[in-house]
Amino acid sequence: AIRLDGVEKRFGDHLVLKRISLEVQPGQVVALIGPSGAGKSTLLRCINLLERPTAGTITVDGVTVHADHEIKERDLAALRSRVGMVFQSFNLFPHMTALRNITLPQQRVLGRSKAEAEARARALLSRVGLADKADQYPARCSGGQQQRIAIARALALDPKVMLFDEPTSALDPEVGLEVLKVMRELADEGMTMAVVTHEMQFARDVSDHLVVMGDGDIIEEGDPHQIFADPQQARTRQFLRAVL
Ligand code: ATP
Ligand code: MG
Repeated sequence: AIRLDGVEKRFGDHLVLKRISLEVQPGQVVALIGPSGAGKSTLLRCINLLERPTAGTITVDGVTVHADHEIKERDLAALRSRVGMVFQSFNLFPHMTALRNITLPQQRVLGRSKAEAEARARALLSRVGLADKADQYPARCSGGQQQRIAIARALALDPKVMLFDEPTSALDPEVGLEVLKVMRELADEGMTMAVVTHEMQFARDVSDHLVVMGDGDIIEEGDPHQIFADPQQARTRQFLRAVL
């Protein structure tokens, strides 16, 4: 589970997150939508402390970090080890094969043997439909394939929760569909997920809970179908009109 209590983020004078509180229950998929600059990426990056919140509390799978206390290296490592993250840009190591991209972090972070890491990597590559790409370098893979390799790499570290920041926005629509299919399967298997997305269909049909952000705040949240059918807030209506 993920729990945010009063998470605030300032960049200098700019208040980018205004005391956000949010829960993602085990097995739940929460979609975050909203206009550019709303603070969606910043919120996601605060969950695994890629950004340090300036106030508030973050709990992931029982590990709690308080922004206003000194954060112990041990808690930081424990929290990060529970979170897998997939970005818009795939961030694969370009000089390594797909297989090596997935085995290296397992060996470095979890101390797995090469054989163990390879077995896991091959299983995950088949799971994302890329068993035949193990020895391929990222540059020889399509964007959608690279993103699926990135998902496999994150899953290889056995995260308790997965964060996705617009994983398909750099992809052509038909290629994005392959990635969305993998994400949907992951959701069906019970992975706890927070997904920033511009794919309104995914947000409506796959997520269990929808969060609409605007200007560093949660404008509206609730059942995705209900919000799409009957948004309660003017700013939500305005945003949905612009994107649908
Ligand atoms: P988009 O849909 O365009 O990805 P977003 O909702 O993800 O937008 P964020 O990237 O979280 O928005 O940015 C929220 C605000 O925080 C923006 O005004 C942005 O300029 C500001 N911001 C983000 N990162 C930094 C930073 N490192 N330094 C200063 N300001 C930042
Ligand atoms: Mg963003």
